[in-house]
Amino acid sequence: QHSSPAQAEFYQAAEEVLECLRPLFERYPHYHDHAIIERIVEPERQVFFRISWTDDAGKVHVNKGFRVQFNSALGPYKGGLRFHPSVTAGTIKFLGFEQIFKNSLTGLAIGGGKGGADFDPKGKSDAEIMRFCQAFMTELHRHIGPTSDVPAGDIGVGGREIGYLFGQYKRLTGRYEGVLTGKGLCWGGSLGRKEATGYGAVYFAQNMLADRGDTLEGKTCLVSGAGNVAIYTIEKLLELGARPVTCSDSQGMIHDPEGIDIALLKELKERRRGSLEEYVGQRPQARYIPVRDYPMNGHSVWHIKAEAAFPCATQNELTLEDAEVMLAQGVRCVSEGANMPSTKEAVELFLEAGIAYGPGKAANAGGVATSQLEMAQNSAMEQWPLEKVDEKLQRIMADIYRQCAETAAEFGDPGNLVLGANIAGFRKVADAMIDQGVM
Ligand code: NDP
Repeated sequence: QHSSPAQAEFYQAAEEVLECLRPLFERYPHYHDHAIIERIVEPERQVFFRISWTDDAGKVHVNKGFRVQFNSALGPYKGGLRFHPSVTAGTIKFLGFEQIFKNSLTGLAIGGGKGGADFDPKGKSDAEIMRFCQAFMTELHRHIGPTSDVPAGDIGVGGREIGYLFGQYKRLTGRYEGVLTGKGLCWGGSLGRKEATGYGAVYFAQNMLADRGDTLEGKTCLVSGAGNVAIYTIEKLLELGARPVTCSDSQGMIHDPEGIDIALLKELKERRRGSLEEYVGQRPQARYIPVRDYPMNGHSVWHIKAEAAFPCATQNELTLEDAEVMLAQGVRCVSEGANMPSTKEAVELFLEAGIAYGPGKAANAGGVATSQLEMAQNSAMEQWPLEKVDEKLQRIMADIYRQCAETAAEFGDPGNLVLGANIAGFRKVADAMIDQGVM
């Protein structure tokens, strides 16, 4: 039931999963006997807390903090922290729910969780970010641990924030342990983690295309976002000989027909944390389109002619109108770096059209998978070479693709990776819940 509009994103995510499970339940009715659906849609635990912090002028601010520990059937809760003014309990609940099935698909021992705050990092000084992170961890530390709940980054939480959060955890507990992932390389981080979600989304697209006798080489690609996932999606596409021609942030988008200049993008977004508008100053052939000029009900990135698309910004950023334009202009492959970036209607259209469509919970699972590799390195007190991490990431993405494709075929809808991902992800968690008894 859609009883609360505040949870609209959670209902959207849950509805998609539940609709896909129908053929599984018809074939294996015993899942009903164990009330798996009733149990899996209810988080095991949710923590809501106050975060008070002081800005550089001495003014006190208050934000809302969240951690949802959704399901621990397969391992310790694992999932990122999002700092963005739009964050509500409903956002975190939707992301935590998706995380259960995504983590299951990786084949690694990780349960589903997610957290964050309605804090806006934009325009804040380094010192303000540090004080906010310290205040956030002052409450969160009592709920997490290296074998119980291991948060990571997400929108607005990157290497800098993970550093401040880790420092505060250590100060409060006196323990130096793998309680967060996405750490700096000289203090417990894994090589390849920063790149993993974006690279993984591209590896997933490669797998989908390979099955259709095709490759990414020479393809014009659309990418949205200009953060962690978008940057490393673009980097890998360039490395493979594809031509990513767009990126975007919350203010507008860039169309660079010669291909995005990755060094310039990193300089603007990773180092200077500036605006994308500055990109055109150094690349005169590129065009900047501000959000106010976007089409009604759409996003200009998706209206550029291309063959493949990688939504890497945020949820519901690709609408039915966008999907119609994309298909009409030749897009035949969509691999989602972001979580639930396509609306329900856009997904239905992609599936109807029979294009290679990789839903976020499968296509962007490379990030959390590599986070688990970081946990493995921390507990073994090792640091693996980049080649080893990347080779494992490629294997994991190929395996996720294979599971989704085989499961879709098993349930009579070959090529429907939404069905495949939801059933394959769910089945493992449900079986583990049954094995572990009612709780
Ligand atoms: P970042 O904060 O690094 O980047 C987010 C990007 O998306 C920024 O360019 C931001 O623009 C833009 N953006 C965010 N919110 C909006 C919005 N409401 N409208 C328009 N643009 C927006 O985050 P990540 O790259 O880490 O995350 C991107 C997506 O990938 C999210 O859906 C996240 O859940 C998902 N994801 C991330 C993983 C990871 O490892 N980081 C793992 C799996 C999924 P601006 O800077 O202007 O706000």
